[in-house]
Amino acid sequence: MSPRKVCVVLHDVSPATWGACKRLLDAVDGFGRIPVTLLVVPEYHHRASIGASPEFVHAIERRLALGDEVAMHGYFHRDEAGLKSWSPADRFRRTIWTAREGEFSALDATAAAQRLAHGLSQFDRLGWKVAGFVPPAWLLGPGGRTALAASGFRYTSTRTHLVTLPDGRSYASPSLVWSVRSHLRRRLSATFNTYLRHRLRNSPLMRLGLHAADAAHPDAMRFWLGTLRECLDSRLPVTKSEWLGLSP
Ligand SMILES: [Zn+2]
Repeated sequence: MSPRKVCVVLHDVSPATWGACKRLLDAVDGFGRIPVTLLVVPEYHHRASIGASPEFVHAIERRLALGDEVAMHGYFHRDEAGLKSWSPADRFRRTIWTAREGEFSALDATAAAQRLAHGLSQFDRLGWKVAGFVPPAWLLGPGGRTALAASGFRYTSTRTHLVTLPDGRSYASPSLVWSVRSHLRRRLSATFNTYLRHRLRNSPLMRLGLHAADAAHPDAMRFWLGTLRECLDSRLPVTKSEWLGLSP
């Protein structure tokens, strides 16, 4: 029987968040060589192009050489589409719940395809191979889904599933994830993630969905490092591509 696995995934990787990302990655590296799936945002909040920072490029290339994987994570990581024709539930999801970070929730197929292509060309220019696309806040609307199916990406993920493309084969595997925007959210995150970790203790795959913002919160950091330590007792660390059997 193949051993159980753990995927360490770092969301919101960009030159703009690199200080926080580095704190998290340094802590993960303290356990030895853990291959991490880095969810990189090509132009985070319109203010940080991935190719414009030599220090960032060098740091990512060093990690790729050691076995990390880069996946594309939105383009601007901002949901700037209008809210007018949306239902109250969808508005709640796009505003209060995800702080308007769900960039691919409301884009039409043309706009989504353009952003996917722009992102891919940036990764191409850097020579970084990319198999996965993970929409910010895991929100992918109908336009985004259509564009993604035709984009050449080989996998995507939702909060609860990994999905290979273009066949759409889906593997249930809920991600642990914290919301750190308020004290209350962190308390709820601690309780819910502790429960989820226990529920998934015998699952084939444990997904640890770290976010750059978690680095500023000692309670989140303690949770992640404790969880990773526990996982490494019985699980092999792999990237998402490795778990899905996709060659880089
Ligand atoms: Zn994100």
